[in-house]
Amino acid sequence: MVHQQMAAFGHEQVTHFVDEETGLEAIVAIHDTTLGPSLGGTRLLPYETHDAALTDVLRLSRAMTYKAAASDLDLGGGKAVIVADPTEKTEDFVRAYGRMIDRLGGHYITSVDVNTSVTDMDHIADETDHVVGTSAGLGDPSPITSRGVFEGLRACVDATYGTRDVSDLTVTIQGVGKVGSGLAELLVDHGADVIVSDMHEEAMNDVAREYGLGTVDPADVYRTDCDVFAPCAVGGVVNDETIPQLTCDIVAGGANNILERREHAEALLERDILYAPDYVINAGGLITVAAEHTGDSREDALADAIAIGDRMEELIDRAESEETTVLEAADRYARERIESATDEPVPQSAD
Ligand code: NAD
Repeated sequence: MVHQQMAAFGHEQVTHFVDEETGLEAIVAIHDTTLGPSLGGTRLLPYETHDAALTDVLRLSRAMTYKAAASDLDLGGGKAVIVADPTEKTEDFVRAYGRMIDRLGGHYITSVDVNTSVTDMDHIADETDHVVGTSAGLGDPSPITSRGVFEGLRACVDATYGTRDVSDLTVTIQGVGKVGSGLAELLVDHGADVIVSDMHEEAMNDVAREYGLGTVDPADVYRTDCDVFAPCAVGGVVNDETIPQLTCDIVAGGANNILERREHAEALLERDILYAPDYVINAGGLITVAAEHTGDSREDALADAIAIGDRMEELIDRAESEETTVLEAADRYARERIESATDEPVPQSAD
């Protein structure tokens, strides 16, 4: 099964690490290093089966290849999962993980992801140089991610309504955590009407109060009347069940894996809804940790995230002229970058 999946996705290397002393079990997937060392966060989750962990890390690492290539970064795609309950995490456990990363010799650089923290990265940095997102780094990437999402969203607005001005628009944001709340602030500053929704009611009400926003129950978020739907919470929210409910002209948000399946990009196009590929619009986080890796500043990272607006415009134009989805246009752009540096064909970004 591993070999079949690796071959189908085009992975270079998948390493399974076990440390009996600390109980650590981790899988590091290096998808493609044609453009540079692979970079991607370490996700810690109590996966129910080994197959579930493997499938997750193979998919996530492949997506990182596309995210880096489409963002014009000289980096490849990689990702790691640690199979554990977050309560099992200890300093020794994290350090053992750092030593394992070191053994990969810099082909994989790790960073923060679900259930791993800046403190964990600091412990890893004691064991290896191949880590970013430490306390000595460029700080929380989320505001830069929010800014990239805002600029990408405005490019979609321009393509749809002929202006980047959002002051006549209503935007519904699903999830007002770090990225969603930053996006809400930028939209309000630019005169948009913003409606927020979050399964964490207190967080939702706090953000709504701070910026004077409307709120909507999470169960009703898809059918809420708006121009732009901005998913900034979890993946898989655009699917067979939700697409018929959408009233918006644009889906553009910061969440990873917004589409449940790749074919949902076509389903949105058929409904005349413009979909901003998640890995293009939310690349501000990767751009920030990549800047840390190359020794660039936070200002450099912000400038690159702002350029996501122009990148999105180019991809929308390409999708129109090639009569395809913006997701396919982004995939083609990423593949061309990689294939110009290698003879190997690159499989598509998602199933
Ligand atoms: P976060 O944990 O700060 O916020 C997520 C918010 O979504 C929380 O308030 C949570 O209560 C809410 N939420 C979760 N499930 C929900 C649901 N089903 N309906 C409504 N609300 C729900 O996370 P974040 O850092 O803001 O990241 C948000 C998304 O953006 C994630 O998909 C993440 O992978 C992606 N992303 C984040 C960054 C970054 O720089 N933080 C970069 C790239 C991508």
